[in-house]
Amino acid sequence: IHNETIISSGSEILQVDITQVPDGQKVNGALVTLCRNSDLGEILKSINSLESKFNNKYHYDWVFLNDEDFSEEFQAEISKSTSGDVKFGVIPSSMWERPDDVDLAEFEKAKKIQSSHNVPYANLDSYRSMCRFESGFFYNHELLQDYEWYWRVEPDVKFFCDIDFDPFKYMIDNQKIYGTIIIPYEIADTIPTLWDTVKEFASTFSLSSKVFGTGDEKIDNALYLISENNGETYNNCHFWTNFEISNLNFYRSELYQKFFNYLDDKKGFWYERWGDAPIHSMAASLFLEKSQIHLFNSQFGYSHTTNTACPRDEVFRKEHNCDCGVRRDISFKTGYSCGKRYHDMQKIWYNSEWVSEW
Ligand code: GDP
Ligand code: MN
Repeated sequence: IHNETIISSGSEILQVDITQVPDGQKVNGALVTLCRNSDLGEILKSINSLESKFNNKYHYDWVFLNDEDFSEEFQAEISKSTSGDVKFGVIPSSMWERPDDVDLAEFEKAKKIQSSHNVPYANLDSYRSMCRFESGFFYNHELLQDYEWYWRVEPDVKFFCDIDFDPFKYMIDNQKIYGTIIIPYEIADTIPTLWDTVKEFASTFSLSSKVFGTGDEKIDNALYLISENNGETYNNCHFWTNFEISNLNFYRSELYQKFFNYLDDKKGFWYERWGDAPIHSMAASLFLEKSQIHLFNSQFGYSHTTNTACPRDEVFRKEHNCDCGVRRDISFKTGYSCGKRYHDMQKIWYNSEWVSEW
């Protein structure tokens, strides 16, 4: 037994226990992927990318979760491509299926309205289950219970630069709790009442002055990033959760649990199409100190579907063999993402020439 130091971090309203780890030691973290058997080809691309840029040096465990059994073929192919221990888990139906008290007429009506507005995945019940699972359950899945940190990896993502440090350790050493890389705009049609519900939650639990206040009582959170009028309205800036490196105890905290349960009771995952991305973003931006949020855009090159981040520093790109062009980096394109606003809030330097609308 070696002596473990656990530090309570977080904010006045949400505390997170963080285990300190000596230099050179592995952190209690895992790579985590939620996917289907049919995602095999796309997830192998993500695995090959992340293993070659990072994990073949660190050998972190990789946990795969699915709402049904992973096939023999899936498990065999994945095991061949990963360098750490691999675990395959099934999600209990209580964490996935639509609850019985969802009103079906209202649910069908919502899907029709969203389809007519061309909202992506409007008609896919499983997408809603996925968003709800990623909002309120993944961190309590039995395969994740013994981990403190997770790095979420989706099918069809690419890492462009060598990662020559341990980002879990980086998070601990720099007192970070929530990490992500791209901050695009959420589709407003998926969350018509989410922000008002979050404000109602804050008011119900007497947190309004702490998270939205204008005086000394307000914690130094990231409200500025997600609202341009002190909380009156939401500006749709959301951390893109297909990439997250964060502390699981953040979600396991009493406050986040209350928050999720409150939202879940409103059935917005079904009557609207609330995503885990705006929900994680609102929780992290309101309940943590802004210094505990980290953006990896200057350290990693990353892309998933339509969005790419590529470090702007040319020397860095050369030294890390980044296989991406800065023209594709959306971090400072204000028409696509809230990166500029994030840098302004955190007072992180950037070259004003990097900023453009498109
Ligand atoms: P998008 O990134 O918002 O376009 O959504 P994705 O289709 O990529 O889904 C987000 C994540 O959830 C990905 O890791 C998917 O593999 C996973 N996912 C989505 N739907 C399902 C599902 O029905 N079952 C399982 N097991 N995973 C899913
Ligand atoms: Mn995706």
